[in-house]
Amino acid sequence: MSKGTIAKSYKVGDKDETGVFVDLNFICPHCDFEDYKMILVRAKDFDEIDNGFETDQECYHCGKDMIVQCR
Ligand SMILES: [Zn+2]
Repeated sequence: MSKGTIAKSYKVGDKDETGVFVDLNFICPHCDFEDYKMILVRAKDFDEIDNGFETDQECYHCGKDMIVQCR
């Protein structure tokens, strides 16, 4: 089962017709490593961005899975 963490910060870029890039900054709940990722959110999921969303990520440092919540 994946552990969850809340994004330390996230920044939504400029939306266009295909999607938007979101910069994520979060602390791994497994190893406390601070990680940084850029994810692409498709246009059909824009509602989620406005209401808060979750994304599955793998820690760059320890390789374990987690769910990062952005809200
Ligand atoms: Zn980790």
